[in-house]
Amino acid sequence: PVLRVALMGLGGYANRVADAMKSCKKAKLTGAISGTPAKLTDWQQRFGIPEKNCYNYQTFDQIKNNPDIDVVYITTPNALHHSQVLRVAAAGKHVICEKPMAINAKEGQEMVDACKKAGVHLLVGYRMHFEPKTLEVIGMRNSGEFGKIMFFQGQCGFRIGDPTQWRLNKELAGGGSMMDIGIYAINGARYMVGEEPIWVTAQEVKTDPVKFKPGVDETIQFQFGFPSGAVASCLSTYNMNYLDRFYLNGEKGFAELQPSTGYGPIRGRTNKGELTAPHVTHQTIQMEEMADIILRGKQPLIPVNGEEGVKDLKIIDAIYAAVKSGRKEPLKLV
Ligand code: NAD
Repeated sequence: PVLRVALMGLGGYANRVADAMKSCKKAKLTGAISGTPAKLTDWQQRFGIPEKNCYNYQTFDQIKNNPDIDVVYITTPNALHHSQVLRVAAAGKHVICEKPMAINAKEGQEMVDACKKAGVHLLVGYRMHFEPKTLEVIGMRNSGEFGKIMFFQGQCGFRIGDPTQWRLNKELAGGGSMMDIGIYAINGARYMVGEEPIWVTAQEVKTDPVKFKPGVDETIQFQFGFPSGAVASCLSTYNMNYLDRFYLNGEKGFAELQPSTGYGPIRGRTNKGELTAPHVTHQTIQMEEMADIILRGKQPLIPVNGEEGVKDLKIIDAIYAAVKSGRKEPLKLV
């Protein structure tokens, strides 16, 4: 069978996912949810979605009675994910939720619990977990090519434009750059080092308090410690361009990815030479793999389930706490 997907929130990223799904063999776009009737008409035409599979934010609970939709993929602003995931779970459909899964770990855990209770999958849109060059580096690390891992550096950011967008509105975004782009460095530190951090320290810098209101972080530097003794040093920002770089250092070698989390192609090298895994559109391979996870119980190399999302949210909570306290905050992820 093919995974039949409805997208909720027909904005920039939903369009990217829908286009990428045209090349999928295991997943197919069959439904859409939007508050704008004109977008639904447009999507019916562009993607061949039948009108009976279109819903708005008042009616989408009725998806429960629609046998042509297996999963709802939520691509709305961050703070809306929590209530929308709970409603989709209550309708008995699987959920794919964009990152950040929620705006704090408490909400994230409620989403995990609700999906477990409803007996549906909850997956997070972590496209890098399926990206071939990322997996090439992790394969090399696992086979010992870099020796004992000592250090990770993750630099993630871009200079954000329009000050009126939802990403700069605390109510809808839940925070600032950390929620949006810093989460890639957090997540990357975990999958690149291959351990869960046990402490974090963090420092915030804000150069433009008009554009970046209270609760909306502009730039945060943060550091992790891992059980093996490895350390990480990361930067999350909405105020610098050309920041999309991962560096992994071990006793016997290194890997460098730049770009590391953009839409690609990802590029990189190690002490052994250039990475060679082929580029695939991230959202295409993600949806193929998610079809295998949901329909055939496949276990991906790096998990993409709700529990994985909650771990990143616990770290984000701790980073914000460390910024406030100025102290080393302990992390308990396992
Ligand atoms: P966007 O602004 O382009 O789209 C958001 C959509 O949500 C719009 O169509 C908007 O109309 C709709 N919406 C529904 N209710 C809304 C409300 N109350 N207020 C404002 N908008 C509302 O944003 P985007 O870039 O598509 O991001 C959407 C989500 O996808 C975010 O959670 C973001 O973090 C995530 N995202 C992930 C990736 C990735 O690579 N995995 C990339 C981009 C965005």
